[in-house]
Amino acid sequence: MAEDRTYIVVHYAELGTKGKNRAFFVGVLRRNIRRALSGLPLGSIRTSAGRIHVEILTPPDQPEVAEACRRLEKVLGIAWIARAEVLQGRPLDRLEQEAKDHFLEVLRKRPETCSFAVKCSRADKDFPVHSPEINRRVGSAVKLASGLDVDIRNPDLTLYIELLPDRLLYYCDRTEGQRGLPVGASARVLSLLSSGIDSPVASKRIMTRGCHVSFVHFHSVPYTQRASVDLTEELVRVLGAYQPRSELVLIPFAELQRKIALEAPSAIRVVLYRRYMLRLAEIVAKKVRARALVTGESIGQVASQTVENIAVIEDAATLPILRPLIAMSKEEIIREARVLGTYEISTQPYEDCCGYLMPNNPQTHAQLAEVLAAEEKLGPMTDLMRGTIDRAEERVFRGQERIRSGGGSHPVSPE
Ligand code: ATP
Ligand code: MG
Repeated sequence: MAEDRTYIVVHYAELGTKGKNRAFFVGVLRRNIRRALSGLPLGSIRTSAGRIHVEILTPPDQPEVAEACRRLEKVLGIAWIARAEVLQGRPLDRLEQEAKDHFLEVLRKRPETCSFAVKCSRADKDFPVHSPEINRRVGSAVKLASGLDVDIRNPDLTLYIELLPDRLLYYCDRTEGQRGLPVGASARVLSLLSSGIDSPVASKRIMTRGCHVSFVHFHSVPYTQRASVDLTEELVRVLGAYQPRSELVLIPFAELQRKIALEAPSAIRVVLYRRYMLRLAEIVAKKVRARALVTGESIGQVASQTVENIAVIEDAATLPILRPLIAMSKEEIIREARVLGTYEISTQPYEDCCGYLMPNNPQTHAQLAEVLAAEEKLGPMTDLMRGTIDRAEERVFRGQERIRSGGGSHPVSPE
């Protein structure tokens, strides 16, 4: 049958366990799917029996279908997707024949296949024939035609069949999704994004828990080159593929950093920088209505990230600080950064911070009393902080595309 439309089955594993809130989570996921597919010839999006069925109004071999699948692979909250063949109505006799033909066609491209299974799920409990019976009938037809062995537990190739109230679906290939929860199902958070390896991974991890992530980056222009800003923007573009819209706030930190470098004891400089970063981040968080801050900290990774220092840094914040990488090793984080596609960006060389801003002998066990005394000596920083926030720039992205930029009396990147 020549199909003029394509069905994509979307399975949401984790949402299936959400009890009474399930309808809410599924609603958020459906909205995100609709947004992700905007611009494509989208038909209906229907929820049925723990799955979402997405209809694309072109035949299966059209590029729009491949594009839709590519986009769905990045929608958080999806366990797997499958492009399904459809039989309208419920013609069991045709199912046997056509599902078998479909299986043989897939098999031709995979000659190494030795075993198979048929797995039928009967969403429509009124359907007169039960799943085991359908598995047997279709399985026998496939076995006869292919000569393959049946292996229910660990098959090389599986033919999936779904019985819905008004149609039958079948498919062989499932593509893994991102899993997790759909963006927007949890609160908005603000991620402190350096251009390093860790914070992009932390941002992605927290996004996978359903949080919409906004970003703040502190740069030291003119003491450093613009590269860290450009790299950060590139990182936001990569992360932007996983949520409908991303905001990046760029904060000129050089002046504050310079004052600390000149006036505070060198060993606790980094702790002081981080405390002021948190204070500024909280101002941004209020503006974007974020409920928590996110960092890429991991215990023991660098001198500033001992438990003692983390405690002293955190003392400057009132919002909760989420640290998804806290117990991860650098190797694990790098592995995730490579999969995410941020590793190559984060490791591009640039001048991180000019020498005199960074101490040679950072304190690994900062004492809160000493840090508070140093802040006392710096005097009131309110004006400096306000000036810093006033000169912040904002960039907004829809998916991976920048749609707006503004603010900042000293633009750091040419438009
Ligand atoms: P990363 O690889 O994310 O830069 P790191 O191991 O270099 O992490 P630090 O430089 O100690 O760690 O920073 C700890 C965390 O503080 C970062 O993960 C990030 O969340 C935040 N952070 C550090 N520098 C900046 C910055 N310039 N702008 C925004 N956030 C920052
Ligand atoms: Mg860093």
